[in-house]
Amino acid sequence: MLLTDLVVVFLIGSVAALAYWKYVFPTGRILPGLYAIRTHNNGMPMGNLFLLQIDDNDYYIAIDTGGDTAETETGLRRLGISSDSVVAVFITHSHWDHIGALRLFDNAIIYTGNTENNAFPGLSHHAMADGEIIEFSDISVQCIYTPGHTVDHVCYLVNEKMLFAGDLFITINDSPFEERYNKAMQLEYRKIVLGLDGVDYVFTGHFGLFKDARLYRWWFLS
Ligand SMILES: [Zn+2]
Repeated sequence: MLLTDLVVVFLIGSVAALAYWKYVFPTGRILPGLYAIRTHNNGMPMGNLFLLQIDDNDYYIAIDTGGDTAETETGLRRLGISSDSVVAVFITHSHWDHIGALRLFDNAIIYTGNTENNAFPGLSHHAMADGEIIEFSDISVQCIYTPGHTVDHVCYLVNEKMLFAGDLFITINDSPFEERYNKAMQLEYRKIVLGLDGVDYVFTGHFGLFKDARLYRWWFLS
């Protein structure tokens, strides 16, 4: 390989790395009442879990938990949020990087979509029906079934405008982690959720946010 080729490869790699760092939220506040914790894999930013504050009070709901208990615990401490104040955890799907820190949230009710693949043995949880809504004072959370990435994958629509999409928009074929990965089904459900009216924000498990959901429509559907 020529030196110039190496330089080009290095430059492309650097730009890709920068983009990756940018897309995963740093731990902190994103919007009033909405917080993210950044998770890592082998030292690289990997994804986010999210916390929504109920009623300006010291109570929260979480969307996913991150994969590592110590890392999520550190993130909560940085945000000044006690794990005891998390009253509900909504799980998008049963991959380790989304549920690994579940044990931190002893006080929370665990919500999932369908649990057909029995990903939560021995753990008390509420399996939400497609379209079911749970309300916490000023926050409503609607479960939307979006199988494909995993059979139990769901999105959560908060207050009818913020969509927490888990791994619905991941494009990598992750079949090694899920025998019943179904790409065609995943693509179909992307179209369905992007066709929902009134969605201002789409938050993903690994690619941060596109504030304007129309960008997602353009990127994924065109
Ligand atoms: Zn996943």
